[in-house]
Amino acid sequence: MKEKEKMELEHIIREEIRKLEFKINDLKDFTAPIAPDNAIGRISRMDAINNKSIFEASERNLQNRLSLLNQSLQFINDPDFGVCIKCRQTIAMERLKIRPEIRYCAECLKK
Ligand SMILES: [Zn+2]
Repeated sequence: MKEKEKMELEHIIREEIRKLEFKINDLKDFTAPIAPDNAIGRISRMDAINNKSIFEASERNLQNRLSLLNQSLQFINDPDFGVCIKCRQTIAMERLKIRPEIRYCAECLKK
């Protein structure tokens, strides 16, 4: 990978990390502990619990992606960065720009 491409990707990764951290922070409001029945009523408490589990699931997804991106950032100067871990082909730059955390080329991902 060219030095210029690497710098571009590093920039993209840092931007993504910043956005994800922002989103996760936003979700914190919705995943806070829920007040007891007598404070908000039973039905709205059930609603709150449902919503909370949806928000918790998306928070988990975001956390996962965040840790993958952080890994990519540590890995970016490695000669294997941007190389498919299965077939050793170079992963297309266009794909890396969209998902810098991917480790497989398009072909191997299909299989
Ligand atoms: Zn491959």
